[in-house]
Amino acid sequence: MSHDPTLVVAKFGGTSVATPARWRVIADVLRTRIAQGAHPVIVCSAVSGVSNALEGLLAEHTDADATRDRLEDLRAVHRTLAEGLGLPGDLVDAQIDELESSLDAARALGELSPRTRARIMAAGELMSTRIGATWLTAEGIDVAWTDARDLLTAEALEDAPDGRHWLSATCGFERDEALRTQLLGAASATLTQGFIAHNPQGDTVLLGRGGSDTSAAYLAARLGADRLEIWTDVDGLYSANPRAVPTARRLRRVSYAEAANMAALGAKVLHPRCIGPVRQAGIPLWIKSTQDPSATGTVIGVDHGEDGIRAVTSRKQLAFFTMRRDPTWQPVGFLADVTARFKAHGFSIDLISTSSGVIQATVDMAAAPLADDALDRLMADLETVCTPTLRRDVASVSLVGRNLRGSLPDLGPAMEALEAARVGMVTTGANDAHVTFVVRADEVDELATMLHGAVFGRGAAPALSSAVVRLAHPGAA
Ligand code: ASP
Ligand code: MG
Repeated sequence: MSHDPTLVVAKFGGTSVATPARWRVIADVLRTRIAQGAHPVIVCSAVSGVSNALEGLLAEHTDADATRDRLEDLRAVHRTLAEGLGLPGDLVDAQIDELESSLDAARALGELSPRTRARIMAAGELMSTRIGATWLTAEGIDVAWTDARDLLTAEALEDAPDGRHWLSATCGFERDEALRTQLLGAASATLTQGFIAHNPQGDTVLLGRGGSDTSAAYLAARLGADRLEIWTDVDGLYSANPRAVPTARRLRRVSYAEAANMAALGAKVLHPRCIGPVRQAGIPLWIKSTQDPSATGTVIGVDHGEDGIRAVTSRKQLAFFTMRRDPTWQPVGFLADVTARFKAHGFSIDLISTSSGVIQATVDMAAAPLADDALDRLMADLETVCTPTLRRDVASVSLVGRNLRGSLPDLGPAMEALEAARVGMVTTGANDAHVTFVVRADEVDELATMLHGAVFGRGAAPALSSAVVRLAHPGAA
């Protein structure tokens, strides 16, 4: 074991694989890590915009002309990248042709199954990594292109009406020494795809939109990685979305629990699902920026022991349900009647607030694939037990941290920031890690800015005291 090199899993998102300049960053990361004696496992997204374009193709597949135009756009995107890297422009033409035949077949059959959808969406990551591996090899880096479907196996799930077991599968992530030995023996570095896996029958499945972070976390756990790095276009987790809140500050050190809550409540840098596997395996997670590779980023790891608010986050794609029934004293089963229906239609309740005659709840639509029809069916079913209303123009803004109930007295100035907003619902997380306000989507950015200012001051950095910033920075490596 003494010669076993360290193994680092590094995920590069869509913008980080979109241009020759970003691929040069990836090459630098590979060379540096290899020179340090580590085996890097690079997990790539599709080129930015490609997964959306593939979804567009699926939505319009019945229109043969639109399909052809969209396929030509996809061909052009990959041709530009390949030629920019000095490679033949037709490197992924075979894959585009294959997409065309699958779509033609679906049009002829008059049916597009979730199984076919998964195979078509998988092409994005297969194409980006084909181009990347060809170029890195030409650059003299000893990297093995590896099919992620040979690395990750989806758990068998019940058939769900929304095709979730094809489009948003989950995978086991128990450590696999044999897999680690296999990758270490194959080349100095591994390049693979995010987002895709096999099911136990050997079919292609997806891990849900934004699933490449999760792929990387599963792989880090399976391979017993020393570290997971998520390379993206911002240099870390911030105290608020820096694009909407100019005074937001980068957080150097964040606990797994805080990161999971921040991601679930709207921080876009990480997919909420990717924290669990690395947390269970005790693997530190670093956020790094491909735009500024030497920036220190954020380190996510074990609890740092500080209470209070760390960040203000917001989300826009919420569905907001208000369900009324004649109020009675201690009604039996109202909540059960309602929640059973959300479950039956495949929706996870996100935020909830109850009283004897009214229940309010939200669903995060960003997490629900193919859900619009299901939402109509849910509403019809809810009408059998209450009078439901549904609003789709709703957002949430959250104060996220640790032991927030202990910090309630400090929330005073933040509450004043709410004066002008029309708050539809207020909830506190049972995990004591967030206070969330449901508001109109067009009010949310302003409210987030005001809350951030009230909590952290206009220019103050919500940094942890240096005594708790114990772990080394990413930049130190
Ligand atoms: N390419 C996939 C998506 O855009 C997966 C990912 O990039 O995380 O959803
Ligand atoms: Mg992402």
